[in-house]
Amino acid sequence: MIEDRLQAELAEIASLGLSRRRRVLESPCGRIAAVDGRKMLNFASNDYLGLAGNAEIARAMADGALHWGAGSGASHLVSGHLAPHDRLEEEIAAFLGFPRALTFSTGYLANLAIVPTLAGRGAAVFADKLNHASLIDAVQLSKAQGADSQRYPHNDMAALERQLAASSAPTKVIVSDAVFSMDGDLAPLPLLFQLAERYDAWLVIDDAHGFGVLGPHGKGSLAHFNLPFHPRLLLMGTLGKAAGVGGAFVAGSDIAIEYLLQRARSYIFTTAAPAPIACALSKSLTIIKAGDALRANLFARIGQLRDGLAGLRWSLLPSLSAIQPLIVGENEAAIALSKALWERGLWAPAIRPPTVPKGTARLRISVSAAHTAADIEHLINALKELA
Ligand code: PMP
Repeated sequence: MIEDRLQAELAEIASLGLSRRRRVLESPCGRIAAVDGRKMLNFASNDYLGLAGNAEIARAMADGALHWGAGSGASHLVSGHLAPHDRLEEEIAAFLGFPRALTFSTGYLANLAIVPTLAGRGAAVFADKLNHASLIDAVQLSKAQGADSQRYPHNDMAALERQLAASSAPTKVIVSDAVFSMDGDLAPLPLLFQLAERYDAWLVIDDAHGFGVLGPHGKGSLAHFNLPFHPRLLLMGTLGKAAGVGGAFVAGSDIAIEYLLQRARSYIFTTAAPAPIACALSKSLTIIKAGDALRANLFARIGQLRDGLAGLRWSLLPSLSAIQPLIVGENEAAIALSKALWERGLWAPAIRPPTVPKGTARLRISVSAAHTAADIEHLINALKELA
C-alpha cells in the first residue's frame, strides 16, 4: 500500500513515546483554558501579556472585518496591500525607532524571507545551535541556494568570532534568537552586534519572545540592551505571542526592507493576511505601548515562581523571560510530571528531544501577565507536593 512506509514511521514515533496530540480548546486562549470539559490553569501558551482574548483587540478585529472585509484578495505586491497593513507597518517602525517594517502572516514565513534573501550563493551564515526551527529551516534554504553555513555552540561568542575570522565570504549573516524559545535565556546582543561590526556582517535577530515583554514599553530585546537601530540589523518579531493576535514583522533600514519586498519569495508569493488582523494588531500595539502595568505584573509573577521553586528537586533554567523551563531530565519523568499537574488542573507541557537535547526533557512553564499571585502559588504548591 502506498501508505505503508508512513504507517511504519508513525508506529515507530508512537513506540518511542514521541507521538504528539492536539488538545482542543473549548474556550478562548487565556489564563483559564477549557479542555475536555475541564477548566485548566494555562501555563502552556505564549500569550505573555494576556492579550489573546482581549476584548478591545477582538472588537478592533471585528470592526476591521466589517469595514475592510474578511480577505485581502491577493498578495501584497499584486493588490492585497490594504490601508490597515500599511498603517501597521508604519506604527511598528515608529514604535521601534527603525526606518521601516514589513509585515508577514507568520514568524515562520518572516524568517524564511530574511535569511535566504540576504544569504544566497557565496554568502556565509553563522547560526546559534539553539535557534528556533524556523531559523534552522531558513538557513537550509540559504544552503540550497549555495550559501555556506556554520552553527556555533549556544551563545559562544568566542566560537562565533573564530568562525567569522576564518570566513572569506563577501556576505556574512549572523542569525540568532534574542530569547531562546526552549531555554528562555537571552542572546548577548551587544556582543553579537560588536562581532557583526568587526566582521562587517548582517545581524538577524528573532525577537519572537522578547517583543512586547522586554525593554522599555515592551520594545523588545534590542531595547532591553539599549541597542538602537543600525543598518546592519534586521529585527524579526512575531505578533502571535505577546501581541496576542498573529503574524510577524521585520524591521530594518529602508534599503534592506525594500530589498526583502522586491526579493523575498515568502513575502511575494503568498496572500496578504486579512486586513482585520492588521486592525487588531494596531490596537494591540497601543496596548503594548501603554502596558507597563501588564509587564510589571508579568515580572512579579516570574519572580514569584522563581523564588517559590528555589531548592526544589528539579531546577529552573536561569531565565529572565516569560519562558521558565523546569528541567526534569528523562522523557518519561517529564511526561509523568506534566500529567500529574494536568490531573490537578494545571497545564504545563513537557518538551522532549528532539526539540531539546537528550536528558534535558522539561516542563516549559509560560508565565503571563494574566496570571494572578494565587495562580502561581497553586503551581508552586503542586510542584512541591509532586517533588
Ligand atoms: N521564532 C521563534 C523564536 C519562535 O518561537 C516562533 C514560534 N514558536 C517563531 C519564530 C515562529 O513564529 P510564528 O508562530 O508566528 O510562525
